[in-house]
Amino acid sequence: MKNIVIVGGGAGGLELATFLGNKLGRKQQANVVLIDRNQTHLWKPLLHEVATGVLDAETDAVSFRAHAHNHHFHFEQGAVTRIDRTNKYIELAPVYGLEGDMIVIARRIPYDYLVLAIGSKSNDFKTKGVAENCIFLDSPDQALRFQHRMLELFLKFAENNALSEIGEDESKQKLVEEGKVNIAIVGGGATGVELSAELFNAAQHLSSYGYGKIDPGHLKVTLIEAGGRLLPALPERISNSVQKELEELGVIVKTNTMITEATPNGLTTKDGQEISADLMVWAAGVRISSVTQQFDGLELNRINQIHIKNTLQTTVDDSIFAIGDCAFLLQSDGTPVPPRGQAANQMATLCGQNIVAMFDNKPLKDFTYRDKGSLVSLSKFTALGNITTGKKSSMTIEGRLARVAYISLYRLHQQKLHGCFKTGLIILIGRLNRFIRPSLKLY
Ligand SMILES: Cc1cc2nc3c(=O)[nH]c(=O)nc-3n(C[C@H](O)[C@H](O)[C@H](O)COP(=O)(O)OP(=O)(O)OC[C@H]3O[C@@H](n4cnc5c(N)ncnc54)[C@H](O)[C@@H]3O)c2cc1C
Repeated sequence: MKNIVIVGGGAGGLELATFLGNKLGRKQQANVVLIDRNQTHLWKPLLHEVATGVLDAETDAVSFRAHAHNHHFHFEQGAVTRIDRTNKYIELAPVYGLEGDMIVIARRIPYDYLVLAIGSKSNDFKTKGVAENCIFLDSPDQALRFQHRMLELFLKFAENNALSEIGEDESKQKLVEEGKVNIAIVGGGATGVELSAELFNAAQHLSSYGYGKIDPGHLKVTLIEAGGRLLPALPERISNSVQKELEELGVIVKTNTMITEATPNGLTTKDGQEISADLMVWAAGVRISSVTQQFDGLELNRINQIHIKNTLQTTVDDSIFAIGDCAFLLQSDGTPVPPRGQAANQMATLCGQNIVAMFDNKPLKDFTYRDKGSLVSLSKFTALGNITTGKKSSMTIEGRLARVAYISLYRLHQQKLHGCFKTGLIILIGRLNRFIRPSLKLY
């Protein structure tokens, strides 16, 4: 039986493993193996909601082991460290437990077909102090770290207020600088924009959960973008509307502002300006893990993306495919397929069909990216963006309709993983949880 190994159980990889497990694994036509360094999957575009506590990562996460059991594939935990193309195996790093003890040794996993779907991470462009002082929002762990730090800051803020009310010398006890919760976010793309708005929503909820009286005036959020406008991938009119909405909420938007250093107390800009902050998030740029340099000569671009052909096979090895953010494919107009959820979903679908075609000795199909539009959600306040209506036309939508379109990408992903019935139940449970659980995760 042939081994199909998929590395990375994210937006693209998990959909693919589910499809191939159901299609080939169930009838024992292939042994489908999914590998991920983590034990659970969470839809990355929701990470800003995990970061503010609006979403409980544990409730929404999909367990790889349980999902593999239900969809006829195998799951192996571990981070890929190397590929040997001659002998057709990949190497996985050992897995360590919470106490630092090794619980699974380094292994070799043989493959006949290999799919690389290891995603991307933020790019700090080696800016001084960023890795040490800023939080990235690339994984649920990082989002949870942000959430804990944010709750600590709000607690300090509440403590500050309590002390000043009982007449303690505020200047001695000042736990929060400037008497405000001061958060800076670098990167005016979807993550930075959505996180900024979500913070104001979280602040409103925290007020009612015993964190003292917090109004938007007590929260200072600075959103910093090196380019001339927010959301450069969206039409200018949408960027302008988003900036206006954010500023109305109270966000300080700084465009054309390049960060050159991060320190424990804040950020320094290229023109020497200091932006103080108690908590900093780096949500700019995209790069791929340098592990791809250990992938036995696969062709890479300067951010370590793997060059692929239209069939999604790598340019140097037909038995290896790459999909999602880690794949580099130029479209007919000369622009690369963007690193986005919908591109990963579409690639997963075609990759599954092409692998099945290989099993049936049928020709492989070429990938064409269909941009269905881009939407951003400004928390409960509004959502806006554009949806594609024709080959060269798009329509701007806003408000409730935009919110529905925004969430539909996630619902489509859930449907591909769980089917329609189970997705319906998940939606229902989500609604019920709104009554049962607090609106914010508070620990
Ligand atoms: C905060 C945030 C918000 C976003 N919002 C949007 C949005 O609104 N709309 C949109 O279209 N896109 C959005 N994106 C982008 C979107 O999430 C990605 O394009 C999409 O997840 C890419 O899918 P993927 O399968 O390539 O990789 P991922 O979903 O990133 O999955 C990669 C998987 O590979 C695993 N992995 C990584 N390295 C290794 C290794 N060495 N060994 C084993 N496993 C490994 C990871 O654990 C992960 O499970 C957002 C991204 C972020 C971070």
